[in-house]
Amino acid sequence: MSSRAPSANPRSWNPLTLALLAALWIAAFANWPLWRAMSALPEMASARGAVFIVAFGAIVAALTLASIALLAWRWTIKPVLAFFLLAAAIGAHFMGSYGVVIDPTMMVNVLQTDLREARDLLNLRLLASLLLLAGLPLWWLWRADVTRLGLARQAIRNLLALVIAVVLMAALAVALFADLSATMRNHRSLRYMINPLTSFFSLGVVVSAARAQPEGPLLPVGLDAKPLPRAAGTKPPLLMLVIGETARADHFSLNGYDRPTNAELAQRGVLSFRNVTSCGTNTATSLPCMFSHLGRQVFDARAQQRENLLDVLQHAGLAVLWLDNQAGCKGVCDRVPHALASDSAAVGDGLPDALCADGECLDEVLLRGLDARLAALPAQRRAQGVVLVLHQMGSHGPAYFKRSPESRKPFKPECVTNVLQQCERDALVNAYDNSIAYTDHVLALGIDWLTAQTQHYNPALLYVSDHGESLGENNLFLHGLPYAMAPREQIHVPMVLWMAPQTATVRGFNAACLREH
Ligand SMILES: [Zn+2]
Repeated sequence: MSSRAPSANPRSWNPLTLALLAALWIAAFANWPLWRAMSALPEMASARGAVFIVAFGAIVAALTLASIALLAWRWTIKPVLAFFLLAAAIGAHFMGSYGVVIDPTMMVNVLQTDLREARDLLNLRLLASLLLLAGLPLWWLWRADVTRLGLARQAIRNLLALVIAVVLMAALAVALFADLSATMRNHRSLRYMINPLTSFFSLGVVVSAARAQPEGPLLPVGLDAKPLPRAAGTKPPLLMLVIGETARADHFSLNGYDRPTNAELAQRGVLSFRNVTSCGTNTATSLPCMFSHLGRQVFDARAQQRENLLDVLQHAGLAVLWLDNQAGCKGVCDRVPHALASDSAAVGDGLPDALCADGECLDEVLLRGLDARLAALPAQRRAQGVVLVLHQMGSHGPAYFKRSPESRKPFKPECVTNVLQQCERDALVNAYDNSIAYTDHVLALGIDWLTAQTQHYNPALLYVSDHGESLGENNLFLHGLPYAMAPREQIHVPMVLWMAPQTATVRGFNAACLREH
């Protein structure tokens, strides 16, 4: 090539050639989860299917090249390719290991994940993915000599490469139109598996959405809310609202699961609502949606931030307290009193905490010092009624084994790694079910504490989970698939209600009647 720079080095590369090589590498290797998912489709099990997959590979390579072409300059190409390769290696790891897709909702979730949660997701497989998919080509790239070419000549080449890549993509798309449109329509998640572009796209959507909606004035809701008038002499209500995490309805023995995961709740006369679906498939979506009056579909399309149920309760003069044992309340509790359950200063017992280790606490911490927390709420509001919201760690994955204490693990052996697909399915389910059984224990302790408050209050407990979880069904793990294509395991959630007998009487609540339904 005439463009090769005269140097002692035997080979020097035009930035565009490096971009092409990287695009081929990314398409062929860093997209392995996409190729695995596509080759598993029944309609791909033919020669026509194989040709389609190869051609789709060419589209992915062309698309990747098109997005790098205008950035292919002598001084920029190495950092740009490093960024693409690293993003691709990380994306491949999460898609390949957990069966998730990186759509805008998942990106919101990623951005809201705290360090503690992120640590659970780090493991040797991620390191291997980084080394193989990004480290290997970067090691070579770092030593490669880049050709010096005039600004104008490089600009013309880059533009030409962009045009060729786009034309190639368009030609392939037209040639494959029938297969392409059918496949993308039937398997919508595939389009979110094109790596790493889908990560960039999702990030772009999230950032532009955040910019398009500057935090306008908050829309108030229910400013005129009032508690129902109470007959003289009746006690104020005390509701413990427990927001579960990642619990599946079909793993509650209350709902017919054949393992004793609800041994304690079963003895406390609770009602289980068996046909409840979640408001989203991940915490960041579901939590605000659960507390909104809008409902799932309208909530998705909402244009502005609005107040939620907790604000309304507060407008009505009730005492509200949000206790968190997780990564925060996603904005739901911003305007009401809230505290970290692990913050013992408020409780003042000063005991060394056997419930907490490495900055994480078991859910019993939510109940510790509850008497003191209740007493600290304003007396005037308490006289109207109290709503305590307990936000659980629940069955948060992938490290399910960390969600129950050693002394409360009825199901063994347990999967004790966060690399879920390395575990026997039975051991994985054991670890998950132990976390459900522990939630059962925590809820039972909550009911026992409430029972002790009956002298001053009419107590009740409502438990509902934010979303479910995939435990390897159809090779899917964790949660967070877009709602429309999420499997039932990710959206069918448990909901349990308990009322003290005196509360039921005051409210005219007929448990026997409800139970029949
Ligand atoms: Zn969640």
